[in-house]
Amino acid sequence: MTTKTPAYAALKQSAPLQPHTIERRDLGADDVQINITHCGVCHSDLHMVENDWGMSAYPLVPGHEVIGHVAAVGANVTAFKVGDRAAVGCMVDSCRKCKPCHDGLEQFCPTFTMTYGSPTKDAGGVTYGGYSKQIVVNKDFVLSVPENLDMAGAAPLLCAGITTYSPLKHWKVGKGMRVGIIGLGGLGHMGVKFAAAMGAETVMITTSPEKGEDAKKLGAHDVLISKDADAMAKNAESFDFLLNTIPVKHEIDPYMALLKYDCTMCMVGALEPMPGFHGSSLIFRRKSVAGSLIGGIRETQEMLDFCGQHNITSDIELIKMGDINTAYQRMVKSDVKYRFVIDMASLEAA
Ligand code: NAP
Ligand code: ZN
Ligand code: ZN
Repeated sequence: MTTKTPAYAALKQSAPLQPHTIERRDLGADDVQINITHCGVCHSDLHMVENDWGMSAYPLVPGHEVIGHVAAVGANVTAFKVGDRAAVGCMVDSCRKCKPCHDGLEQFCPTFTMTYGSPTKDAGGVTYGGYSKQIVVNKDFVLSVPENLDMAGAAPLLCAGITTYSPLKHWKVGKGMRVGIIGLGGLGHMGVKFAAAMGAETVMITTSPEKGEDAKKLGAHDVLISKDADAMAKNAESFDFLLNTIPVKHEIDPYMALLKYDCTMCMVGALEPMPGFHGSSLIFRRKSVAGSLIGGIRETQEMLDFCGQHNITSDIELIKMGDINTAYQRMVKSDVKYRFVIDMASLEAA
């Protein structure tokens, strides 16, 4: 048994998104059904529509910044009741047997199920994401959303939020550290908010000088324009940690030069072959380049609770479902402040 559900999908690679009907599985004993009120628009959604990572299946229903209210719960669900706020991020299941699963790092499970585009036993054979009216998810992958947070502004926390929070925590960002966030987009603006809230001296490193004032409003103490060679030289060897959200391949040597000895630049953006780097960028000062993928379920809940305590949400532009293709075009031009969020009430009318 399944429930027909309105959604928006790319029917083939690079196709504009259009109205589409999907089948959601009926509620199982361990499931939570969520009526989706909002879904954030991640740059990864566009990468997947374009099949940039060679793993997309069509029809593709993107969306992994999913938030709404509980519509129904299965017999084994005790943590949620009908009407509660609930959210889903990038994962909807994992094997639960491997070491990463035991460690609460489900994102490193070799067979975790992505919220969209992963094989599933459900109708359609692949998972469908949050650009839809409702979703049915196993209770262990459903998050609670603090009551004080605006629903639309909280949606992007489910990917942009956790993807920046997790590495900042892992590399113990806090007071006394000078931290650079590279790229002021969806991820970057959350990185700035978190690094500042964690007590670090936070510097926005951007290609767009016009975003400087905004960066300061978001909490950045300073702004560094990466295209300004003099400014980059003045900031050489001055950072304790860099979080790099640039979504495409790029030279990393100029950024590595900004790090102090023994320090790390963590990449979260470009999932593609990168140009080479000069060995001396790492060797002379024992520097590291690392990567990070979203965050585990436990840590995602910790991040949402941190946002509740510090009243942190994303700065968003609310759009209608039918505006999604224009939103994608604007995202490619870095013309977004700083996350598009779809008002799912607009889906029926689309
Ligand atoms: P976004 O909103 O488009 O922001 C990216 C920002 O990077 C842009 O606003 C721009 O900021 C900067 N940028 C763009 N092109 C650049 C270039 N050629 N050189 C230097 N800077 C450039 O994207 P997003 O949603 O934040 O996502 C960023 C990337 O992270 C995407 O590739 C996405 O797929 C990936 N991602 C990874 C994970 C993970 O788990 N690791 C999770 C979610 C998303 P400025 O104008 O300030 O320079
Ligand atoms: Zn994402
Ligand atoms: Zn596993």
